[in-house]
Amino acid sequence: MSGKAKSDKQARRIAKFIEPLRVEPGSRVDLAEDFDPRYKARMRKRDGAELLRTGVGLLAEYQAKLAAQDTYGVLLCLQAIDAGGKDGTIRHVMSGVNPQGVHVSSFKVPSAEELDHDYLWRYARRLPARGDIAIFNRSHYEEVLVVRVHPENLDRQRLPDGARGPDVWTRRYQEINDWERYLCDNGFRVVKVFLNLSEEEQRTRFLKRIDLPEKNWKFSAADLRERERWDDYQHAFSEMLSATSTPWAPWYVVPADRKWFARICAAAVLAHTLMEIDPRYPVVGKKARKELRVAKRLLESQAPEGAERDPYAAGHRD
Ligand code: AMP
Ligand code: MG
Repeated sequence: MSGKAKSDKQARRIAKFIEPLRVEPGSRVDLAEDFDPRYKARMRKRDGAELLRTGVGLLAEYQAKLAAQDTYGVLLCLQAIDAGGKDGTIRHVMSGVNPQGVHVSSFKVPSAEELDHDYLWRYARRLPARGDIAIFNRSHYEEVLVVRVHPENLDRQRLPDGARGPDVWTRRYQEINDWERYLCDNGFRVVKVFLNLSEEEQRTRFLKRIDLPEKNWKFSAADLRERERWDDYQHAFSEMLSATSTPWAPWYVVPADRKWFARICAAAVLAHTLMEIDPRYPVVGKKARKELRVAKRLLESQAPEGAERDPYAAGHRD
């Protein structure tokens, strides 16, 4: 099989694999009904490890081309409930890529300076440059999640009266969709992954954080208070997924109860986007090729007595 046919086949396989995870734009999502946190596409963990390795290699290859082409940028947004596995997903999925081409930003409670600006300001400052992949560990979607579940966050944003009526969430969905559309039209693809964890698996992971001393730092009492709002979060997630999965930036709901499977899914979603972009190494033009030939002759003329004129070419001849 030719290289092209092989990569086309791989692209089709990945597209098929992630299809059940995509939120169809315009559809109404009921998270609990529509997505199973334990789904694993009948895959076995053993086979999963090999697949993740392939995926990580693929990402490295495409990221190198994305950087060389320097035309498109990619923004990967990761959202999840506490203990959903965002950090581990980033660590594993990006383990093969060149750190120079990837930037991770984590978004916490906004600072005073951030609150002094419009709500998308702090996210806009962390967008990728052309050729780069930016990862948002939490993202602008917190503005319709934690801010919605705890409206005192909205009070702190000091919006003018007219901007904070009951339609504020509908408006934010629209604004976010428009913002992502603008980014997409200008060469920046937005990839959105929601790690879907079950309530029982969250309980287990919290207990693990308490039971293992080296994990204690990850646990805070605030996490338990958030857990009490489970249903409110599930509602906010469902609303967000329904309103902001668009043809230009669809949501992918990744089953998160099994970490190994979640990582494969996240890698596949990102790989799918990169394959769609299909970045290429730039080919140098006629003039540049001529310059290369001149430079080659000059370097060859500098060979010391007895040395190969071009040691690289000599080493690759046999
Ligand atoms: P962690 O990711 O565990 O370090 O926690 C970060 C905290 O910041 C979480 O409790 C989030 O809910 C909170 N957070 C993130 N973005 C916002 C936001 N825009 N407004 C209020 N709280 C936020
Ligand atoms: Mg936390």
